[in-house]
Amino acid sequence: MRKIGVLTSGGDSPGMNAAVMAIARSASLYGMPLIGIKHGYNGLLRKSTNIHDDMQELYLDTVLDIADEPGTYLRTARCLEFMNPEYRELAVKTLAAMEIDGLVVLGGDGSFQGAQRLCELGVPCIGIPATIDNDLGYTEMTLGFDTAVNVCVDAVRSIRATSRSHDRPAVVEVMGRHCGDIALTTAVSTGSEIVVVPEVPWTVEGVADQLRKQLAKGNTRATIVLAEGCYDAMAPFDLYGYLTTHGKPCYEGEPMSAVRFASVMKRMCGMVEARATTIGYTQRGAEPTARDSAFAFEAGNLAVKLLRDGVANQVIGMKNGRVTYMPIDEALSTERHFNRPLFDLVNSL
Ligand code: ADP
Repeated sequence: MRKIGVLTSGGDSPGMNAAVMAIARSASLYGMPLIGIKHGYNGLLRKSTNIHDDMQELYLDTVLDIADEPGTYLRTARCLEFMNPEYRELAVKTLAAMEIDGLVVLGGDGSFQGAQRLCELGVPCIGIPATIDNDLGYTEMTLGFDTAVNVCVDAVRSIRATSRSHDRPAVVEVMGRHCGDIALTTAVSTGSEIVVVPEVPWTVEGVADQLRKQLAKGNTRATIVLAEGCYDAMAPFDLYGYLTTHGKPCYEGEPMSAVRFASVMKRMCGMVEARATTIGYTQRGAEPTARDSAFAFEAGNLAVKLLRDGVANQVIGMKNGRVTYMPIDEALSTERHFNRPLFDLVNSL
């Protein structure tokens, strides 16, 4: 294998740039030219009139400055056409025309499925799990998760300071899509009293009971951490009916949200105030933590080494605290396990 490509796909994730730098340094060491593909799989479809908007050769001095930068230098995007086999054939042709012999794909579950399709078409691919969500069952960590959690921990600590000052509970919503790992790890790391996740069915009344128990114990400043996907696991609740009969205007059919949830808690638990904060994109745009940067460094090097040695169609992950790899098919069929005992512990104290 001589020339390789790298792309970042799906949602951006802290540490993507650090991994690209490690890939560039390793490729340079092994004498392999490296092409950066822009905007995820879109760059392979040659959509732009200027080739530099689709791909560019990455030299060491181009990437040396980006390692600690949040975001992704190569840009990322979703590429719906890639679901279509005709466009994937086009991508294979682009790779052949550019004499790119193998590809490193940084992204989550969806991006790996794209890589799997490319592998089936004979393009050797290596995946690096890069998503803040930590939703890939085969690996103990994904690149960006630790940074996202640290952003949440800083935010929740600040919010808890205000909760203490005012003796009032707080509702904090964190990201993670259909995965509750960011919420659970944030709750554990901050001593938050209640955590609600998509993996465990729940009721609004049940959480209000938990909060009332905290208040009865004398804890007037509890924090409820909500995972953004938790509303999917919520038992039906008549938000409009409840709020409008309790003096709070609300539009009919309005979905549950952190702000609305805080309003309901305030009324169900008879509190003077309960405030909501949604942490949002600051979780994705932060500088990578040491843990994420170190993972990016090792994963980037391993990806290039595997391609150099002709070991293809693998994804890199963390097992027993060590960076390792496994076949992409096996990784994508590995079930994810939510840490239910830890979840129960948080909610029981
Ligand atoms: P993530 O990689 O973070 O899970 P997405 O699910 O949005 O993000 O996937 C990113 C991109 O990967 C998609 O826009 C598409 O280009 C590609 N992709 C996702 N699923 C598939 C699939 N089943 N087949 C081919 N390509 C896919």
